[in-house]
Amino acid sequence: MTRIARKRHHRGYTHIQKKYRTRRKTKDLDQIHEDMKPEASKQLLNQDIDHDKPGMGQHYCLHCARHFISLHALKEHFRTKLHKRRLKALETEPYTQKEAEAAAGMGSYHPPKLKKVTTQEVVEDENMDSAMTAK
Ligand SMILES: [Zn+2]
Repeated sequence: MTRIARKRHHRGYTHIQKKYRTRRKTKDLDQIHEDMKPEASKQLLNQDIDHDKPGMGQHYCLHCARHFISLHALKEHFRTKLHKRRLKALETEPYTQKEAEAAAGMGSYHPPKLKKVTTQEVVEDENMDSAMTAK
């Protein structure tokens, strides 16, 4: 006997694919919390010129762990919902995996108060722009 309205087995499968997709892998919030520490962020926001990265690795959003092709693109990104949502998430997500587990185990867990997360400072660098257009 053949069932006519057979349920497709791949329903809801995209979620799994996304999880294991490695190409556009973004960092976990945990990792970004690490990146937001002064020593780490200083390094990330002052990366060496890398021709393999968008914008040669010079326009990086610390909170979204993404490279942008230009200062303009980075600034545009700061105004997007995606970025604002990320800042919010970084403020409210449990700080570490350990704390997340504790939160799951205890009903009355309150994550530590985090500093307000704000968009990184954008340094206008005109030399950079002219260096890029001169290329
Ligand atoms: Zn961002």
